[in-house]
Amino acid sequence: MMNISDDKTATIIIGGGLTGLSAGCLLSSAGHPVKVFESDAEVGGLSKTIDRDGFRFDLGGHRFFSKDERVNRFVQDLLGDELIPVHRSSKIFMRNRFFDYPLKPLNALFGLGLMTTLRAVADYGAEKAKGLLRQPSQVSLEDWVVSNFGRTMFDIYFKEYSEKVWGIDCSRISADWVAQRIRGLSLSSAIRNAFFSFSGRDLPTLADHFLYPETGIGRIAERLREEIEKKSTVSTGTAVEQINHNGREVESVAVANHLWSGIVQGKEFISSMPLPRLVQLLNPLPPDDILEAASRLSFRDLVVVTIMVDRPRVTDQTWIYIPEKKIPFGRIHEPTNWSRKMAPEGKSLLVTEFFSFKGDRTWNETDERLVETTVDHLQRLGFITRKDVLDSAVIRAPKAYPLFEVGYEETCSRISGYLSRFRNLHIAGRVGMFRYYNMDHAIHSGLSTADSILARGSAGDTAREDERALALAGNAR
Ligand SMILES: Cc1cc2nc3c(=O)[nH]c(=O)nc-3n(C[C@H](O)[C@H](O)[C@H](O)COP(=O)(O)OP(=O)(O)OC[C@H]3O[C@@H](n4cnc5c(N)ncnc54)[C@H](O)[C@@H]3O)c2cc1C
Repeated sequence: MMNISDDKTATIIIGGGLTGLSAGCLLSSAGHPVKVFESDAEVGGLSKTIDRDGFRFDLGGHRFFSKDERVNRFVQDLLGDELIPVHRSSKIFMRNRFFDYPLKPLNALFGLGLMTTLRAVADYGAEKAKGLLRQPSQVSLEDWVVSNFGRTMFDIYFKEYSEKVWGIDCSRISADWVAQRIRGLSLSSAIRNAFFSFSGRDLPTLADHFLYPETGIGRIAERLREEIEKKSTVSTGTAVEQINHNGREVESVAVANHLWSGIVQGKEFISSMPLPRLVQLLNPLPPDDILEAASRLSFRDLVVVTIMVDRPRVTDQTWIYIPEKKIPFGRIHEPTNWSRKMAPEGKSLLVTEFFSFKGDRTWNETDERLVETTVDHLQRLGFITRKDVLDSAVIRAPKAYPLFEVGYEETCSRISGYLSRFRNLHIAGRVGMFRYYNMDHAIHSGLSTADSILARGSAGDTAREDERALALAGNAR
């Protein structure tokens, strides 16, 4: 059935992840109507929590940490005492041993052997000396790491894990993503901390404590939805399929779910959906060079395999990083170490992250085979035995990481340059802007987009007030 909504006052929000919902919450609580459309059956996007018979897990453990006061206040006001502090303690599995993460100097020294460590330090010194003579070129991740930490460090600590995470050679990964923010996926801060007395404690990546909603990270999105629905609407299972414009403004979106389809008009439009997809959905389509640029932006996808176990606890860790390529998953976490409410009494679960490209062997593997492989490796790592396993779940999460290939910055700026012609279209968020955003950045992006719409609204109101005042003045004369 085709519906047409001709209410032109609302802000249309594409995507019910943290970006879209934060924008929606701020706008609707300021009395500004919004309509949020989320293609998935649930809100939350990448920051959702899955519940399988009382076993709860995020798509890779999500810890909330922000240095932005406004974002902290926003989340704390939303969740109150549902937020619990979690102590961070992580390990990394290398050379068949578990090391503390961030690496501790003695741990690293004895674990890798004195000779390797001396070589690494000498190598680092040599790169620093080279840097004094000539500014090194830092186009790729490899260039950046080698010039900042030396070739030995790159080979030992970076190459294998980075290539496992990103799925492409380090010489093809842009150095720019390091600048955007190195998170847990990189080891640089840990290594600097370990070897060069660098204090990484200020880096969000290495913070000792963080906050976590006791029933999982997805609770933030659920609360945002509740707030928005006090005054406005959030439609899940409803995808935006077309974005209709007149060359200067977006006029409406075509939306569809399994029951109906329709055209929804609006005043302002926020897109937190993947940037390349947004470009493809514009109607009329943009010029070929913009479509071609959009086709060059790609994503790394994620397969999450969760194993539920008949044990109260398996590890005492927040995260365990697994750089070795021979082990197919890159990271493990045990949600019950974050909050006891993540599993039924006396039980636990291990969540493993397989980095993948949609359509590759991992992505297309049957759930049974993925579970089999995961249990096998967890057993070999000494975490569980087969008889501990109660159940399992496999979730495929597309577009988990924007893939920062060398040259992506220029591609993104060409696309944003083109999109800037649409006066009322706002792109925001992680996949929406193709940025390495964590949850706090996503929330910040949503809030600041809402700010600019509200400012525009009040500027519009002021202009209308001025017009009215002028008209009244005219009448009085
Ligand atoms: C494995 C992993 C671990 C992470 N760990 C952390 C962590 O510990 N701490 C942290 O702060 N951050 C973490 N992050 C980052 C965090 O998940 C993101 O920053 C945040 O969820 C991004 O929110 P968003 O709304 O911008 O994007 P998304 O969550 O991607 O939301 C976009 C939404 O748009 C919807 N959509 C797409 N197309 C359409 C359409 N056509 N119509 C309607 N809707 C559409 C999607 O379904 C999705 O819900 C992690 C990310 C990953 C992948």
